[in-house]
Amino acid sequence: MSAHPLAPSWLSRPDDANALAPTVWSTGSSRSASGELQIAGVPASALAAEYGTPLYVVDETDARTRARTIRESFDREFARVGSAAKVYYAGKAFLSIEVARWMLDAGLNIDVCTGGELAVALAAGADPARLGLHGNNKSLSEIDRAVGAGIGAIVIDSVIEVARVAAAAERHGRVQRVRLRINSGVHASTHEYLATAREDQKFGIPLADAAEVVALIRSHANLEFLGLHSHIGSQIFESDGFAEAARRLFDLHVALLADGPVPELNLGGGFGIAYTSVDVALPLDEIARRFADIVAGAAAERGVPVPVVAIEPGRSIIGPAGTTLYEVGTIKDVEVSVGDTGETAVRRYVSVDGGMSDNIRPALYGADYSARIAGRRSDAEPALVRVAGKHCESGDIVVRAEYLPADVHPGDLLAVPATGAYCWSLSNNYNYVGRAAVVAVRDGAAHVLIRRETEDDLLRRDAGQETP
Ligand SMILES: *Cc1c(COP(=O)(O)O)cnc(C)c1O
Repeated sequence: MSAHPLAPSWLSRPDDANALAPTVWSTGSSRSASGELQIAGVPASALAAEYGTPLYVVDETDARTRARTIRESFDREFARVGSAAKVYYAGKAFLSIEVARWMLDAGLNIDVCTGGELAVALAAGADPARLGLHGNNKSLSEIDRAVGAGIGAIVIDSVIEVARVAAAAERHGRVQRVRLRINSGVHASTHEYLATAREDQKFGIPLADAAEVVALIRSHANLEFLGLHSHIGSQIFESDGFAEAARRLFDLHVALLADGPVPELNLGGGFGIAYTSVDVALPLDEIARRFADIVAGAAAERGVPVPVVAIEPGRSIIGPAGTTLYEVGTIKDVEVSVGDTGETAVRRYVSVDGGMSDNIRPALYGADYSARIAGRRSDAEPALVRVAGKHCESGDIVVRAEYLPADVHPGDLLAVPATGAYCWSLSNNYNYVGRAAVVAVRDGAAHVLIRRETEDDLLRRDAGQETP
């Protein structure tokens, strides 16, 4: 059967619209004998019945394994080239107290970029020395709290911050380790990277000005310069952009060695994951191997020691471990024009009980996702659908295009995979919808990581509410 006229070119009609592509779904996801989706042995229907929908479900073993794999791979590959690596989990992807502990248990450090994220990591009992703080506009109080807590590293993002961090270090009688974020002119997004002399964005110090700022850092006795930092973007599928950024940073790195130690080089995060079956992500151990080769090659070319390399993955650790469960509420066939041919085709809108409040990525940057009926399997023909949310915006789309069994109906449970990163952390209260709960599943059991927000939670903050 030919493709639906409204299907995007990358999406082909599947042989089986029940199949769970192993590159997209968490490792603990499968269909049980009855055909229902289960994650780590817990049936989707049981999760929905106990915790309600929409519900974020995190496959704990998958998340912990990915964290450990990336740390072990970088340890092994950088040992191979005579150096070492430090892996920071980028907390902004998804952070809760328990998830912070999973990351620390797996031997990772944690990156935070606000006082709130710092508070979560500290509440998890993290040794502050294992935390890093970045951000282009840290408040004075955020800097003070971080330095006072004994944070391991602060990524300085502008000239003005040098004196701010030095003053906080002075107040707390500490020597604060710092990195300097560089705007390398390399920007990567998905399958392409752009390399310019000067990139138009808010983060970091231009490469050309960096030596001067490092000299300023070194002039402060209570700042210790750890090295340069670069983060070139997110959801990157190739290592070319990292290689180009590393090459650019390395010339500066070598120049800085003339005036003092530069023990580390931080290449940021941004490793891509598969959101749909057509995305092909690099395996974590392959990323580590390429990074070690890139950095060791650059060091050898310039005759300097291989620095300790720090990386900051978020999405690639927690993204594939998360799945969102929704319940289908309404279904509508909408006749729409196809191009300007005068022809029409029917698009089936399947609306679920969440949307841009729990996953804003499709509305924010056109991100694609996939979906499956979770509560059952079906032998019905695949039908092209668009999964929409319940919010008052026509751009409130969860999955732009997907083939689901044509008998999808109200009351069906729907699962959207690869929602572990940047979904809960970007969730919001649009239309006074409480943010969804997050549960972890492992070995056939589930427990709450973050409870669902209630209407009471939302009303409690409204000063107009009458007190009894
Ligand atoms: C967002 C961010 C990361 C993590 O990016 P992922 O795409 O989740 O790996 C790492 N470092 C910095 C500085 C960031 O801003």
